Amino acid sequence: MLVFRQLFDAESSTYTYLLADSDSGAAVIIDAVFEQVERDLALLRELSLDLTTVLDTHCHADHVTGAWLLAQRTGAQIGVGANAGVTGADVYLHRDDRIAFGSRYLSVRETPGHTAGCLTFVLDDESMAFTGDALLIRSCGRTDFQQGDPGRLFNSVRTRIFSLPEQTRLYPAHDYNGLTVTSVGEEKRFNPRLGGEIAESDFVGYMKHLGLAHPKKIDIAVPANLKCGQPEGGLLPGQAPDWAPLRFTFAGIWEIEPQWLEERGAQAQVQVIDVREPDEYNGPLGHIRDAVLIPLGELAARSGEVSRERPVVTVCRAGGRSAQAVVILRRAGIATAANLAGGMLRWRAQGHPVVGGADA
Ligand code: FE
Repeated sequence: MLVFRQLFDAESSTYTYLLADSDSGAAVIIDAVFEQVERDLALLRELSLDLTTVLDTHCHADHVTGAWLLAQRTGAQIGVGANAGVTGADVYLHRDDRIAFGSRYLSVRETPGHTAGCLTFVLDDESMAFTGDALLIRSCGRTDFQQGDPGRLFNSVRTRIFSLPEQTRLYPAHDYNGLTVTSVGEEKRFNPRLGGEIAESDFVGYMKHLGLAHPKKIDIAVPANLKCGQPEGGLLPGQAPDWAPLRFTFAGIWEIEPQWLEERGAQAQVQVIDVREPDEYNGPLGHIRDAVLIPLGELAARSGEVSRERPVVTVCRAGGRSAQAVVILRRAGIATAANLAGGMLRWRAQGHPVVGGADA
């Protein structure tokens, strides 16, 4: 079965796509965003998928690609257009190349015009295509920098995207209005720039007078993206907290395993914050030694009682309220907090020691 997810980065309005073959677990990601790599890794892990290839439709100007970081973390290969001018990729893609994932594949169409190296990826059965910035929903990418060329874009869209079946669903790299998907038939009829009876000269005139502002991130994004998103000096960013082997969840929370907390917590000077109610803290499940009781409802007001110098682990009964506690602490400026996975229930089930409580 095909696994398909459309993911969104609100900062740059970028869509990232995950496609996978559930039988083999092989997965491909299209247009990853650097700041969202932990999210993408969490989703891959939670769906038991193995990332084999990360693709970029083109060298983006508005965000740094997550390709390099995903490849570092998973061993996936990086694929980009041969004309994208990018170094550091494993595969340089040309027209009609296939990117396999399990029993499925994407095929490559060259759709230059927004940049000289833009690609569109078409799923094997032509049910979906990923158009990057060549074709956006009722719109298209700009053509005023990065070797943009409106005449080329017009021909790319008309001959290599509009030649797909009418019902092929089209997924763009961006949308600024919350629209998520379109189809070839729809865009042929209703795209105000490229559809209907519009001629190449009309389109070129339109594109020359867009008067768009310079993209905010272009001076950072383009140099980084020319190296597949590898940071300067090859250093990993300070994204992942390094005080413990934490795991990021797709829900956006850092988690820690009970085993680590018992074995290494004291040495790491971890402060444990128990966010249950007092009767639970003193109830049958007991509590972790030296855990400080601050019920969830009081945590925002009492965050000053939590040390900024030591890492924090939050705990509750099953791990739900304590996940919310991590969010509350983050808002209070405490970025080192992690949630104890599974809460007191898992802590006890794994036989870790408790203070008080009833025998299981
Ligand atoms: Fe772009």
